[in-house]
Amino acid sequence: MALDLIPTICPYCGTGCTVNLIVQNNQVIGTIPNNRSPVNEGKLCPKGTYCHQFISNPDRLKKPLIRRGDVFVESDWDAAYHIIEKHLKMYSPDEIGILGSAHCSNEDNYILMKFAHGVLKTCHLDHCARKCHDSTINGLSLSFGMGVMTNTISDIGESDCIFCLGSNTFEQHPIIGRQIIRAKSHGAVLIYADPRYTPTAMQADLFLQFYSGSDVGVLNCIMGEIIRKGLEKRSFIDTRTRDYDAFRRVVLQRCYEPEQISRLTGISEEDLRLAAEWIGTAKTCTVLYAMGLSHNTGGVNNVRAVANLMMLTGNIGRRGTGVNALCGQSNVQGACDAGCLPDSFPGYQDVTDGQKYQKIVKTWNFETGISPPKAGYNITRMFRAALEKPQKIKAMILVGENPLVSDPDQETIREALKNLKFLVVSDIFFTETCQYADVVLPAACFAEKDGTVTNTERRVQRIRKVVSPPGIAKPDWQIISDLACVMGFKNQFQYKTVNEIFQEMTEVNPLYTGMTYEKVSSPDGMFWPVGSTDSGGLSILYREKFSGIDGKGVFCPVEWKFHAEQPDKKYPLLLTTGRIIWHSQSGTMTWRSKNLLDEVNDAYIEIHGSDAESFRISDGDMIRVSSRESSMICKARIVPDVKPGVVFMPINFVSAAMNPFLNAFGADISGVSSNRHICVNISPLNPGGEK
Ligand code: SF4
Repeated sequence: MALDLIPTICPYCGTGCTVNLIVQNNQVIGTIPNNRSPVNEGKLCPKGTYCHQFISNPDRLKKPLIRRGDVFVESDWDAAYHIIEKHLKMYSPDEIGILGSAHCSNEDNYILMKFAHGVLKTCHLDHCARKCHDSTINGLSLSFGMGVMTNTISDIGESDCIFCLGSNTFEQHPIIGRQIIRAKSHGAVLIYADPRYTPTAMQADLFLQFYSGSDVGVLNCIMGEIIRKGLEKRSFIDTRTRDYDAFRRVVLQRCYEPEQISRLTGISEEDLRLAAEWIGTAKTCTVLYAMGLSHNTGGVNNVRAVANLMMLTGNIGRRGTGVNALCGQSNVQGACDAGCLPDSFPGYQDVTDGQKYQKIVKTWNFETGISPPKAGYNITRMFRAALEKPQKIKAMILVGENPLVSDPDQETIREALKNLKFLVVSDIFFTETCQYADVVLPAACFAEKDGTVTNTERRVQRIRKVVSPPGIAKPDWQIISDLACVMGFKNQFQYKTVNEIFQEMTEVNPLYTGMTYEKVSSPDGMFWPVGSTDSGGLSILYREKFSGIDGKGVFCPVEWKFHAEQPDKKYPLLLTTGRIIWHSQSGTMTWRSKNLLDEVNDAYIEIHGSDAESFRISDGDMIRVSSRESSMICKARIVPDVKPGVVFMPINFVSAAMNPFLNAFGADISGVSSNRHICVNISPLNPGGEK
């Protein structure tokens, strides 16, 4: 039987590696890396290597399911669409919330966004970037004018000094970790700041082990030292930026001097001074960060502080420099670009900007108009509104989202889902969230549809249909387009191919203007914005000016605030969370991949040996972990990698999702929850007791 090798994009992290799927008889039977991809250059991490294993899992949803009392019955598309239409018509636009997905394609998210604004006329639209990427969008937009990675993945390998914080790059983005090794092979130094001694820390030339949540304190301290030593880049500051003096006053305060910050963060004074010297004297320095920095209450301030550091040292707009926010999921960037946000149309066009609003109205041409020009609820606010009295959100459509596991404050989300009068979920498996749905729709996965995704470095790349979806499952763009047609909007949603949707996106989204489906189908894809001189798109942003109105970078002074929650006698340990190399997000896909499950298949918490001794816990014990809000049971791992007083738990385990511990309503201006600042207690279970 003949084998086909078809290139497509790995469905897991934002690196966007190209993987060749091996297809035989309409079955994906394996993967091999793609040598032509400039992103992964013939390499894959374990998740990419086994990304085919969940595709033909027998649990895949194959037909629409409709709730009848406490059970679901299989249905066909017509019946499902008519039930959805009938129910959605019962609610006003303001009572309906929509969630897109960072795992779906650009076309899926674009069509969902158009459906929300044009068919339902609701502004309440968001997706899970709220939890990981929105701090970047907000923070970097204020400083630079756009909230995206400034340079490229390969560019990291050109840097002389890499400052990595809040990113365990070698586990979370292993293929990007290769660029750190490349840079080190030509003499670069790696400064790594994190609460844990991770695989990335093992590669560091300078490891700054600090208490979780100290980011702004450490960054302000380093910047103050750079100024005191006269290492700031005056010419860059004078010609390319504004508001420097106010910023300078803040970071030169006594409270940010190394003596003070050392005491509060646990990093030695010498190491803080050395970090400042290395960053201040490097010819090129780049910052890498991920959710450890941005996925926090205060994440916006953390991001602004990073932007300040790179402007202070003139490390913007050149090779080997820049602020590089590494997206967690495969299409976080694309879902944001496509406008699955409550305040923006595609390309971050403010929905309240009259000119932009009118242009969208004209392009789409809905006879009945579109949603009003106002910002809607974000994901956090939507679930809160579903619980309010009077109830503000009554119906929701969730596409590729499993908030019951992946969002903070599990009990609140559960109550909100239960309280909804009508819930539609489209997904590839019957997720935990589906239990609360009225209608569940079977969606095609990454290997069963054509389209595009955009990786963390703004590179738009092709995904390809290599096999047929199971049963009567369809791509999300098609599910939503067909629903729109049933609801009377045939003129706006009659797409025959994905190419037509992509073409429309390039008209609506000015950042994608100049791209064609053919061009992004090349092994290199295309960067956005396309620009006028660089046919592959602009790989490095802000070479000459920033994107704000006056073209200047803006120094935004930020002060370090201690977390609201501090360890005390009752909850003496600080819980920090993160990802591991073997699993992705809530595990909907990786928990159905045998080889990944064989590596790690149960929840655990990492505890320092000295804490384990005080709490009388041995390696492998089942323990209870309790916060002020909730508690859970998992296995203890005694490790030297965390600081005493700190415990670490991966986020990827449904069986013990730590979301009960996380505080959705402590969100900052971006709506990002307090995911990393939770204090807990731990205790061994009674022998023969709970299991
Ligand atoms: S999970 Fe990320 S780093 Fe690993 S193969 Fe997939 S895209 Fe590449």
